[in-house]
Amino acid sequence: MSQTPAERTAWLRQTLARYEHAYYVRDEPLVPDAEYDRLFRELEALEQAHPALASEDSPTRRVGGAPAPMLAAVRHAVPMLSIRTETDTTGQGARNFDVRVRNALGLGDGDPPVVYAAELKFDGLAISLRYEHGRLVRAATRGDGQTGEEVTHNVRTIRQVPLALIGLTPAVLEVRGEIYMRRDAFERLNQGRREAGEKTFVNPRNAAAGAVRQLDPAIAAQRPLSFFAYGLGEVVGWDIPPTHSAILDALSAAGLPVCGHRQSAPGVAPLIAFHERIAAERDALPYDIDGVVYKVDSLQLQVELGFVTREPRWAVAHKYPAQEEITRLVDIGVQVGRTGALTPVARLEPVFVGGVTVTNATLHNQDEIDRKDVRIGDWVVVRRAGDVIPEVVGPVLERREGEPARFDLLASYPECPVCGSQVHRAADEAVARCSGGLVCPAQRKQALLHFAGRRAMDIEGLGEKLVDQLVDAAIIKTPADLYKLGITALANLERMADKSASKLLAAIEKSRDTTLARFVYALGIRNVGETTAKDLARHFGSLDALITADLEALQQVPDVGPIVAKSVAEFFDEPHNVEVVEQLRAAGVHWVEGAPRDTAGVLAGKTVVLTGTLPDLSRDQAKELIEAAGGRVTGSVSKKTDFVVAGSEAGSKLDKARTLGIEVLDQAGLQALLSGPPAAVGGTTNQGERDQ
Ligand code: NAD
Repeated sequence: MSQTPAERTAWLRQTLARYEHAYYVRDEPLVPDAEYDRLFRELEALEQAHPALASEDSPTRRVGGAPAPMLAAVRHAVPMLSIRTETDTTGQGARNFDVRVRNALGLGDGDPPVVYAAELKFDGLAISLRYEHGRLVRAATRGDGQTGEEVTHNVRTIRQVPLALIGLTPAVLEVRGEIYMRRDAFERLNQGRREAGEKTFVNPRNAAAGAVRQLDPAIAAQRPLSFFAYGLGEVVGWDIPPTHSAILDALSAAGLPVCGHRQSAPGVAPLIAFHERIAAERDALPYDIDGVVYKVDSLQLQVELGFVTREPRWAVAHKYPAQEEITRLVDIGVQVGRTGALTPVARLEPVFVGGVTVTNATLHNQDEIDRKDVRIGDWVVVRRAGDVIPEVVGPVLERREGEPARFDLLASYPECPVCGSQVHRAADEAVARCSGGLVCPAQRKQALLHFAGRRAMDIEGLGEKLVDQLVDAAIIKTPADLYKLGITALANLERMADKSASKLLAAIEKSRDTTLARFVYALGIRNVGETTAKDLARHFGSLDALITADLEALQQVPDVGPIVAKSVAEFFDEPHNVEVVEQLRAAGVHWVEGAPRDTAGVLAGKTVVLTGTLPDLSRDQAKELIEAAGGRVTGSVSKKTDFVVAGSEAGSKLDKARTLGIEVLDQAGLQALLSGPPAAVGGTTNQGERDQ
């Protein structure tokens, strides 16, 4: 390095100060903790090697950041310090601490082990809760350790923080602890923000800190926060228990949440065991931790050990590998999901994060890439915590070289990388999708399950497990292959008894005889549910008419707007899809085709509500008759309802029909209507007459 130690020291101090401001004051870190820690340690080492470079205002001498000016300042009667970090993540980390403690206490080899309290190091923000006579009167952040920020209004919204203690009412009791956000709550919060097109939080700590330091308690209240108590500040009028463990027991008994993962550890061996055990459980914990903390259990020994500049001598944080790291974004690929959604995936220079080497991380979708302004070639922060898939948190903008091009998913992937079908993105959707629903291997399983569904082709017995087996064994690629299945192929599958194989074949055989509406629904066209499929089938009468319909023709169908029309048109524009449809027809799937029917049916354009029990018709039969006559059956009565067909024990729907003055029919009335000339009530014009 060409810099002199003095220059390097100055640069490190300046850089760390900038990072601290972003982290502590703005709650928007510029780099991951691991990067900050590396520079911090480098500075510590330089100051040690060159004592002349030491300075009172070095970040190595201070705790935290200055309190924000918009929040009231709180002077801490007992300062809120930092904890020394043991960076050796092996068992040696615990040994180093034990040696330091024993030396400071003047203990020799023959003396008994020091008893420690081992607990988790929660990755949230430190808080001091002041209880007077058992009532919460004030909550303050750590700030610079001497002066924090008043955040009582926000902390009061956290349900886990008791407003009154149970049976513990000294004049003053300051409880120190950590406010954090659970990982699931964090994921949900970010998911919601992503869907709303808002900026996401980089990690739970950051989301929690931002919430606590809000001016508006209503905003804080919307962020799901949790709390763990781990120590004391000022205490007046309480006979403090003699050990740290006993203090936590007392706090827990008073109704404060204390984490269950804690242990009394006589000597160094149980500390190492604790560190290892928690390392193995770390991913499964519902919240982030960045290490474990060892504390000398006896308060008397704590007093004896005392403090150095910014940290007590009686405690240490023994770290785990970082859950956020920096690496290079080499390229952006895409992954095609079961529903055809294309998810952009960051290809990374391998990086060790959250305990594993990560080479791929999700970028969620195009909007998210744009919002975060992530570009190929950038240095990015990658987060991997718990079982959640690794994600790119954002670029390290200050390390960007030049002006790399923005990434455009549709331009890079106009065709599905899995099946080659067209990729589309609807104007109102964040997600781009492959249109090859029936042929895309990525979507095969989902497509088959949907195809076989009860309301689609109704193939009983074709469930998830079987679909997995059939697709994994490459026996089935498209729904058309179902109709080529033979008993031998099935019987060779694991756990498939002969009897269930022939039952399944019978169900497949039976499904050949279907209706156009079911068939259209079974194709799994995006935005085409059962009702729309029926509308389409009724309107067009034949599959060919539907396949060749353009956007305008599609929008003539009642309730079909531009979005649905576009989905249908895109589906049939994809030659692969039409090919499968033809294969299905060739395989003998058939239905009765009709003339475009909504002009012909006596109930064309009419909306009917069924209520109560009819004497001879089941609900489904009545529905079919009405639909066959061009009517629509809906569930609730409104001004748009044309008829209510009421049987015995009709309830509130009948009352509502009467209130609204809607014509009420019984079964006989319905049957008369169905056999008569087109209904004239309501006078809805039929737009369908224009096309065809
Ligand atoms: P620290 O946050 O690592 O440790 C002290 C804190 O640990 C306490 O204030 C307390 O809030 C917390 N803690 C959690 N569990 C505890 C327990 N069981 N008992 C006691 N305390 C517990 O150290 P620090 O000096 O306060 O802050 C430095 C941290 O902030 C580092 O992790 C650093 O990476 C990060 N930081 C990051 C940036 C950045 O730019 N990314 C900037 C500044 C600081």
